Amino acid sequence: MSYTPIHFSEDDRIFQAQIRLFAEREVAPIADEIDHEDRFPDEVIPKFGDMGLLQWSVPEAYGGPEGSLTKLCIAREELARYSLSLSVMVGENGNGMALPLLFAGTEAQKQKYFPILAKGRTLVAFALSEPEAGSDAAALRTRAVRDGDDWLINGSKIFVTCGPVADYVLVLARTNDAPRAKGVSAFIVDTTLPGVTRGSKNKKMGYNGATPNCDFFFEDVRVSADAMVGGDGEGFTIAMKCMEFNRPAMSASAVGVAQGALDQAIAFAKGREQFGKAIAEFQGLQFMMADIAMQIEAARALLYEVTARYDLGDMDGYGGLSAMVKTLCSDAAMKATTDAVQILGGYGYMKEFPVERMMRDAKVTQIFEGTNQIQRMLIARELLK
Ligand SMILES: Cc1cc2nc3c(=O)[nH]c(=O)nc-3n(C[C@H](O)[C@H](O)[C@H](O)COP(=O)(O)OP(=O)(O)OC[C@H]3O[C@@H](n4cnc5c(N)ncnc54)[C@H](O)[C@@H]3O)c2cc1C
Repeated sequence: MSYTPIHFSEDDRIFQAQIRLFAEREVAPIADEIDHEDRFPDEVIPKFGDMGLLQWSVPEAYGGPEGSLTKLCIAREELARYSLSLSVMVGENGNGMALPLLFAGTEAQKQKYFPILAKGRTLVAFALSEPEAGSDAAALRTRAVRDGDDWLINGSKIFVTCGPVADYVLVLARTNDAPRAKGVSAFIVDTTLPGVTRGSKNKKMGYNGATPNCDFFFEDVRVSADAMVGGDGEGFTIAMKCMEFNRPAMSASAVGVAQGALDQAIAFAKGREQFGKAIAEFQGLQFMMADIAMQIEAARALLYEVTARYDLGDMDGYGGLSAMVKTLCSDAAMKATTDAVQILGGYGYMKEFPVERMMRDAKVTQIFEGTNQIQRMLIARELLK
């Protein structure tokens, strides 16, 4: 059981029911397999694309669905009940291309790229992190220098989600001598360009299958001037704005994996007998389930409060709120999935049961898109303004 936020429109509820059915039919059957084999599910891409899920933020005027943040989160949550990695594919080209173009692209760039994304077959990655620049992303060293009308990019990036399968990658690079964030610009880079190479696929704890990761290396990669999104030195601000938008989406994936783990734990506890009765009858486990459910509902309530504000254009305090929601939801996901493993006992530790995968997957939601320590710093910054 889970509660639907009271302010969901009829349209939101219909969409939720459709995605729930799709998740049960298309995602649940492959969720374990793509994790265990670490297989990228190519067959899902056209299905997601035809439903507008990959290209979520592309405006209608350019052939996209121009979906609301609330619906994006509904889709993420429903899919993550079965597979966190597949849920992250919803709006996959957001941070990497659709959002930077939306926030800072020229009309010519929108005309060039949005129709490509709108087809729902293009995969995109977002490359900010570097070996020496993780939480301190503004310390990045990748450089782009002017060469006539073009830019030449040199440097490397790490941990890039969907890097191994991406057609384009948004590269944050230093373009002038202004300090830290002020010297960073954003470039859309075609991954087939000469000088772009990818490292081998990262071997990860979880978050496998639909979201392969790799490093990128750029050696004299030549891009034309119109590959830069926004002005010289504006890239970092654009990247942060995209991440701010994306935090609720990542949070929705966290709520989904938490709910999925609770569903699994309840079903198991009702069926498993010890001491002559179902383990669900033991108060010790009932209290655990109640605690998980409370944390999920609190996280979900804040999540959809924040998405409703965004969709209404109420951006007052949005940065702090989106940091709160990311932290609350991902901490709830880690706790819920860990406790779900506990409720299943030894079975929870076995790969035959999805809670084992869910616990490994949940961990990443506390780390990427800015760790939860960094989110707490952002929240405190708002409080102390
Ligand atoms: C699976 C996965 C996918 C990813 N996908 C992408 C991607 O697509 N694109 C991309 O650009 N990056 C990606 N990343 C990188 C991710 O954003 C970084 O890992 C994250 O920002 C943390 O940086 P770091 O790993 O260098 O850790 P560090 O910054 O070295 O942090 C190590 C620890 O120190 C803590 N810490 C650091 N600074 C502070 C501080 N000031 N106060 C308190 N604690 C602090 C951190 O919270 C953490 O616990 C991905 C990472 C993972 C694991």
